Amino acid sequence: MEPHVAALSDSTYRPVWLDSGGRPDILASLEGNARCQLLIVGGGFTGLWAALQAKERLPDLDIMLVEQTFVGDGASGRNGGFLNTSLTHGETNSDYHFPGEKERLEELGLQNMKEFIETLERYNIDAEYEHVGHLSVATNEPMATKLRTQFEAEKALGRDVVWFDGDDMRREVNSPTYTAGLWHREGQDGVVNPGKLCWGLKETILSLGVRIFENTPVLDVTPDGDGMMTTCGGGAIRSDKILMATNAFRSLLPQIRKQVIPVWDYQIATEPLTPEQLEAIGWGKTRHALSNEANMFHYYRLTKDNRITWGGGGAVCYYFGSRTDQGVADDRGRFERLSKEFFETFPQLQGVRFSHRWSGIIASSTRFCMVPGVAFDGRVSWAVGYTGLGVGATRFGARIGLELLGYQPSDVLDTLFVKRRAMNWVPEPFRWIGVTLTRHALAKADANGGKRGLWLKFLDFFNMGFAC
Ligand SMILES: Cc1cc2nc3c(=O)[nH]c(=O)nc-3n(C[C@H](O)[C@H](O)[C@H](O)COP(=O)(O)OP(=O)(O)OC[C@H]3O[C@@H](n4cnc5c(N)ncnc54)[C@H](O)[C@@H]3O)c2cc1C
Repeated sequence: MEPHVAALSDSTYRPVWLDSGGRPDILASLEGNARCQLLIVGGGFTGLWAALQAKERLPDLDIMLVEQTFVGDGASGRNGGFLNTSLTHGETNSDYHFPGEKERLEELGLQNMKEFIETLERYNIDAEYEHVGHLSVATNEPMATKLRTQFEAEKALGRDVVWFDGDDMRREVNSPTYTAGLWHREGQDGVVNPGKLCWGLKETILSLGVRIFENTPVLDVTPDGDGMMTTCGGGAIRSDKILMATNAFRSLLPQIRKQVIPVWDYQIATEPLTPEQLEAIGWGKTRHALSNEANMFHYYRLTKDNRITWGGGGAVCYYFGSRTDQGVADDRGRFERLSKEFFETFPQLQGVRFSHRWSGIIASSTRFCMVPGVAFDGRVSWAVGYTGLGVGATRFGARIGLELLGYQPSDVLDTLFVKRRAMNWVPEPFRWIGVTLTRHALAKADANGGKRGLWLKFLDFFNMGFAC
C-alpha cells in the first residue's frame, strides 16, 4: 500500500470537531403540533446566530429552531474554522457585484466580526478562538509575484501585512514547496473550533429560551392565514414567520434551489503532532492559519491539540444533479488525493497518520457570497450561499434574514448587497458541464503556473472564474 494511502487506514469518517468532549445532548424531536412567533429551519451557524440575535433584539419573541439531524451536522460542524471578516469573498468580488459599496461592506464586516467576538465573551462561549490572522503562501514564482503585488497594494493602504520571501516563509512554516508568503494580521481574523462554536451557540440560545428540536426534518411550508404552516416529520408548526437557514441542502423553496449549488469539500486531520514533529515543520511559534494561492487551493491549520486539518485542493467536487446525499460523502479516492497533496507539502511528516476524514457541502452562489431573500409577503426569509466563507459571515447573514422579516430593520436593507438579486445557476445538464469545465480549467491553470485559458478568461469577464 502506498504510504499516503496507509496513512489513512485507521482514520474514522467523522469531523474532528465533533469528536471531542463537551458535546451537548441531542435534543428530542418534535412530536405533535406547536406554535411560535418565529420558526428557524436549520441548526447551523446561520440558524443559531439568527436565534441568538433575535433574542437579543426582542427577548420576549417566542422562537423555535428545528434541525433535520443535529446541530452542527451541516457545514457548520465540518468546516476549516477559518474566521474571516470579509462578507463578500474579497474586494474584487465586492466591486464587481456591489459597485460603490466596498467601504460600506468592509465596515459592516468589521462591525460583524467585533460583535461576533464580543458575543463569545459575553456568553462565555469557548470556541477556541485564536487571533492568528491569515497567511497566504505561494508555491511558484508567478504566485509569489501576484502575492507581492497584493502586499504592496495593501501596505500602501496602511494595512497590517507582513511579507515573507522564500527563506523567511520556510522559517515560519517549513515546506520545501513555499516560495513566499503574505501574512494578513489586520483586524480580528483567525481560527475557531467550529464544533465548539455550534455547541456554545446552541447552549446559549437554549438558556435564552429558544426551543430546539433535533431530528426534525421540515417537509413542507405553506401560507396559513396571516402566518405560515410548517409540516415536519412528527408534527406541524404554526408560526408568524420563518427564517430558512438550510444553506446547501435541498431547499423546499424553488427560489433558493436556483440560487445555490452544493459543492463537496473534503478534509482530513492528523493525529496530534509531537513536539518533534511540530519542530520539523517549524510551525507552532506562530500558529498560522494557511492557504495557498492556487485556484484549487488547500487550507490548513493547527487544532488546539496540535493536529493539522487539511482540506480543499483537487478533491473539491460538484456532483451531477446537485447531490447532497451520503453516497458521495466518504469517497476514498478524494481523501487519498488529499493525503498525497499533504505529504507533498510536508515530506518531513512521512509516517504521520490521519485520525479523521470527513466531507461537507459548501453552498455556492453565482455571486460567491451570501444570498438573502424574502417570500410569502415578508413572512419567510433566507440567508444562504456563503460559498466557502461563512464562519464569520453567517452571523451577518442571520442579521439580514431577521431584518428582512421585519425584526428591527435597518438601512443595511437598502444596500445592493441585500437588494440586488443574485443570478440563478443554469439548469442541468449545463450546470454540471459548466462547473466541471471550470474546475478542470482551474486545475490546468494551476499546473501552468497560473496561466488562464480561454474558458477562464471568458468567465473572468463575468467575474465567474472562481473556485469556492
Ligand atoms: C468542508 C468545508 C470547509 C469550510 N471551511 C470554511 C472555513 O474555513 N471558513 C469559512 O468561513 N467557511 C468555511 N466553510 C463554509 C461554512 O462552513 C458555511 O458557510 C457555514 O457553516 C454555513 O452555515 P449555515 O448554518 O448557513 O449552513 P449549515 O451549517 O449547512 O446548516 C444548515 C442546516 O440546515 C439543516 N437542514 C437542511 N434542510 C433542512 C430541513 N428540510 N429541515 C430541517 N433542517 C434542515 C441541515 O441539516 C444543516 O444542519 C466550509 C464549508 C465546508 C463544507
